Amino acid sequence: MFSRSRKPRKLPDDGPRNGWYETLPPPPPARIVEGVVKADFAVIGAGTCGCAVARRLAELRPDDRVVLVEATRVGYGTSGRNAGFMLDHHSHGGMKHFEAARKNDRLFAAGTAYLRELVQQHQIQCNWSDWGRIYVAAEASAEDALQGVADGFDRLGVAWRDVDRDALEEITGSRFYRSGVRADGSALVQPAAMMRGLAGALPINATLYEESPVVELDMRGGFRLVCPEGTIEAKQVVLANHVFAEELGFLKHRIVPLASFASLTRTLSEAEKGQVGTEGEFGLLPANANGSTVRLTLDGRILMRNTLHYARGKRFPPELMAEVTDNHRQSIARRWPGLADVGFAGTWGGILGFTRNEGTVFGAIRPGLWALMSADAAPMTKGAIGGKLLAEHMCGIDSELLQVMLSLPKASLLPPDPVLRFVVNREIRKAAAAGPGER
Ligand SMILES: Cc1cc2nc3c(=O)[nH]c(=O)nc-3n(C[C@H](O)[C@H](O)[C@H](O)COP(=O)(O)OP(=O)(O)OC[C@H]3O[C@@H](n4cnc5c(N)ncnc54)[C@H](O)[C@@H]3O)c2cc1C
Repeated sequence: MFSRSRKPRKLPDDGPRNGWYETLPPPPPARIVEGVVKADFAVIGAGTCGCAVARRLAELRPDDRVVLVEATRVGYGTSGRNAGFMLDHHSHGGMKHFEAARKNDRLFAAGTAYLRELVQQHQIQCNWSDWGRIYVAAEASAEDALQGVADGFDRLGVAWRDVDRDALEEITGSRFYRSGVRADGSALVQPAAMMRGLAGALPINATLYEESPVVELDMRGGFRLVCPEGTIEAKQVVLANHVFAEELGFLKHRIVPLASFASLTRTLSEAEKGQVGTEGEFGLLPANANGSTVRLTLDGRILMRNTLHYARGKRFPPELMAEVTDNHRQSIARRWPGLADVGFAGTWGGILGFTRNEGTVFGAIRPGLWALMSADAAPMTKGAIGGKLLAEHMCGIDSELLQVMLSLPKASLLPPDPVLRFVVNREIRKAAAAGPGER
């Protein structure tokens, strides 16, 4: 049974510096929750899901008051600390749950189109680029995984083309990669800038509160969201706080929390840019899970993402961050020996959610309490469209796409720790053994 009042065991930690965020101008002071704030709808968490659900609720209910409440600053959390791939389609080989993958793929495409439209409409300066992406293999042992990506695209009916070693060298300036699968249609962005822009362009009846962690959710007769300096009284609440929903006691044993890590370099000098290919930008996704996501950004920085870590603890201790920084430095040196010592604007971790069955967290938990979480592949675009669809669902607006979302299986139950921890660590080691040189 539900208890009537919940206090989170853990809140988002400030954590290590998010390099994307660090390179933006400082934001104006946060509007925090003070005194009593009354709302028709309160959305907890201002990531891709929360921003989208708040926006659409405010559009559909112009006379209602929507409150979006964030523990930290918009753009600082996971939606602003990822690799910035806005994926319209994604293939990860095997696709054990193909029917779910096919449906999810429709949502990814709709989410990409939705974000593209919002970025254009509000002229959000986030270096949005329709460069697409290349899935890459560095060693022969990863060729099977790359073939799996191509086969998955074939099954989904998504166009792709081969990229050979010479072409990859032309694009990246490095002979590290032996082959690739290129697909168009997805975008690359500066994610912290995009999130800040999206939150800054919310409709007038939606108000963003930041630096206001919800430290208690009281459900005794209506909803009271208790923050350190004040309280939100809301008629309906949406949990869009991702893996932190379980810290409030909801959605436990549905999502595997897996951390990954990224570093962003300083802007390369003109001479250094001569070492990183001819296109002025690229975005590479690893075919093997042990590999690295790598970007050259439009403003001349390298983003390096790799290393996976089971993240139930939701904290990134200094020893772990030292190991990750070292991994990133070595990964850059292996690709571009001349850039081995380029300084980093930041190295950080963030948590991704995975389900066992490519399932969803979407819909009502109890009267007036809703939840939405984007997990598995392409969570940024799936989260954006999921937020829009959840708001429409809450307001009784049906659509074919909503039916697609509702027809997906719910995220299935996972074993508790230590079993889950053991299984996840075993999978991480398996991926490392299958692609030892991919990182
Ligand atoms: C290194 C890395 C690279 C990645 N690369 C990509 C990529 O290229 N493309 C892609 O699609 N995905 C990528 N991801 C995954 C993607 O970023 C996340 O899956 C996605 O951002 C989740 O969005 P969300 O809205 O569900 O959650 P979040 O963005 O985590 O938003 C939830 C918000 O809730 C807030 N919150 C939590 N608890 C409370 C509370 N009690 N009170 C108030 N607020 C609270 C948090 O501060 C947070 O801002 C990557 C992730 C990482 C870590």
